[in-house]
Amino acid sequence: MTRVAVIGTGVIGAMTTWRLALRGAEVLAFDAYGPGHDRGASAGESRIFRTAYKEGAAYVPLLQRAEALWRDLERDAGADLLTLCGGLTIGAPDNPDVAAVRRCAEEAGLDHEVLDTAQARKRFPQHRIDDGEIMVLDPAAGVLRPEPSVQAALRSAEEAGARVLPYHPVTDAVETADGWRITSNGTAFDVDHVIFAPGPWARQLAPLRSLPVEARLITAYWFAARDVAAHTPDALPIAIRRHPEAGFSCFPALDGAAIKIVPHHLGWPDLNGPDALPRSSAPEHARAASAAAARLLPGVTPHPIRVGTFAEGFTPDEHALLGPLPGHRRATVMTGFSGHGFKLAPAFGEIGADLALDGGTAHDVAALSPTRFPL
Ligand SMILES: Cc1cc2nc3c(=O)[nH]c(=O)nc-3n(C[C@H](O)[C@H](O)[C@H](O)COP(=O)(O)OP(=O)(O)OC[C@H]3O[C@@H](n4cnc5c(N)ncnc54)[C@H](O)[C@@H]3O)c2cc1C
Repeated sequence: MTRVAVIGTGVIGAMTTWRLALRGAEVLAFDAYGPGHDRGASAGESRIFRTAYKEGAAYVPLLQRAEALWRDLERDAGADLLTLCGGLTIGAPDNPDVAAVRRCAEEAGLDHEVLDTAQARKRFPQHRIDDGEIMVLDPAAGVLRPEPSVQAALRSAEEAGARVLPYHPVTDAVETADGWRITSNGTAFDVDHVIFAPGPWARQLAPLRSLPVEARLITAYWFAARDVAAHTPDALPIAIRRHPEAGFSCFPALDGAAIKIVPHHLGWPDLNGPDALPRSSAPEHARAASAAAARLLPGVTPHPIRVGTFAEGFTPDEHALLGPLPGHRRATVMTGFSGHGFKLAPAFGEIGADLALDGGTAHDVAALSPTRFPL
């Protein structure tokens, strides 16, 4: 039986642990914190799932595989993780992201609807749109619950035989003659293969030090909805909003009170390492988020009632690093998901398991190989 260590059980490591355990590997899954913790990239109540992908039609087969695996995990763990409430991309027709979503839907033959300004205002008055703006509706989009997803994957992995080790920071990972020696809490563990899934902490591990992954800050704001029923997933799809004054992703109310936005137009500030994560937002950042809500979301009180700050690993081209770790044997790296890895995590987990157990995968992920960067 192949013995595999997974370092990091955010959503990527958790899904990989689950898929490895189902394939009969002997898995040890280490994390410095507990499952579903809020210091990395896999927390904050909600995540967008979408299929018409502005990042490119090449992702569509992976997204479709991910959706099937989300459903498998829900069945396996008896958990409710993905609600398909539809997804809107909102903005001017020539906005690059609006155009890219439309192009992806057309190229991949995905169901979608384009709503002109009048239709959009009538169907989704929760968004204020300017004359000439449109909405592209992707019916195969929805909202995921991040913390329960991580916990469900690890629970199912444990049921399939994985050993999940929370509060086990890995302090050393060293290649040996026939595998790797992993050290955590003063104990050494010998394995045949190692999967590095440390998210924004990547460069703190010696074998990953030269990878181009930066820890950056992503901030989320919750705004109370005046008519909550009009802002739940039954009534309000997830949205990507593009406007000359602001850009954000928008999530329906899951807590019976507030919708969430993640501003995009303010950028992703570099953190000086993920451990420097501030626990609230800077006043000028909060002010800009409030202004965006006041301008574009007429049904909310535009002062945040909650703020969440998270660290995420970004690469220079904002696509993940996924593949064999250059310069090493029997090692796979999965990091740098650059703000859009959650929805795909079960498919990436399947790929991580393939790479560890088969040395390759049938999924087409060559474009994500770390070798695309000079290391
Ligand atoms: C606010 C926010 C909103 C987002 N919105 C979306 C969205 O709507 N849709 C979408 O698809 N994606 C979204 N993303 C991106 C997505 O959530 C991330 O790409 C994904 O969660 C990355 O997961 P990860 O497992 O790589 O990283 P993490 O979740 O950060 O996990 C890494 C884990 O490794 C552990 N670790 C690191 N080093 C060590 C070590 N030495 N020893 C032991 N453990 C270690 C850490 O403790 C951590 O638990 C969003 C991200 C953020 C932050």
